[in-house]
Amino acid sequence: AYSYDEECDYLFKAVLIGDSAVGKSNLLSRFATDEFRLDSKPTIGVEFAYRHVKIGDKVIKAQIWDTAGQERAITSSYYRGALGAVLVYDITRRTTFENVKKWMHELREFGNSDIVVVLVGNKSDLTQFRQVSEEEGRNLAESHGLFFMETSALQNLNVEEAFLRMITKIHEITS
Ligand code: GDP
Ligand code: MG
Repeated sequence: AYSYDEECDYLFKAVLIGDSAVGKSNLLSRFATDEFRLDSKPTIGVEFAYRHVKIGDKVIKAQIWDTAGQERAITSSYYRGALGAVLVYDITRRTTFENVKKWMHELREFGNSDIVVVLVGNKSDLTQFRQVSEEEGRNLAESHGLFFMETSALQNLNVEEAFLRMITKIHEITS
């Protein structure tokens, strides 16, 4: 999970979790390639993308895993070795916010005990359909000791910031 790699100083793994259709794959493609797929199709298995990030004089290679449409079939191997997690809900679907508790439970069960977690309320562009206030998201994050951010993969708002917050924190605690 955290080892030397010739193209970078550090390599580590992070995972995307959260209910189906909250925007995980679009957040990842924004962060990894700055592109947005309007009709991304669920695929089978696990996918991942890489992104190099420079912090100080170090180059960090983040390997970010995506559920690839198999949210209900996630197993412990998905979490194995992950130093970070981006836990996503959809601000326009309250059930996805209520399920954050369930995802936290899985993280505690399968993830590293010191995993860095960013709670992300995605689709902040859809203000007229909002079912979860920003304050509720922030309060939930605080009560679990998580970072928090609302994002829009569609408008590319805060996406970079959410991933970088996690990556910077992982770098802090592992270096
Ligand atoms: P996943 O199942 O969690 O990987 O979700 P996807 O990335 O496949 O996105 C599910 C649907 O939500 C797709 O139709 C996306 O176009 C849409 N979507 C994702 N992010 C946003 C966003 O920030 N704003 C809006 N309006 N739609 C989004
Ligand atoms: Mg997906």
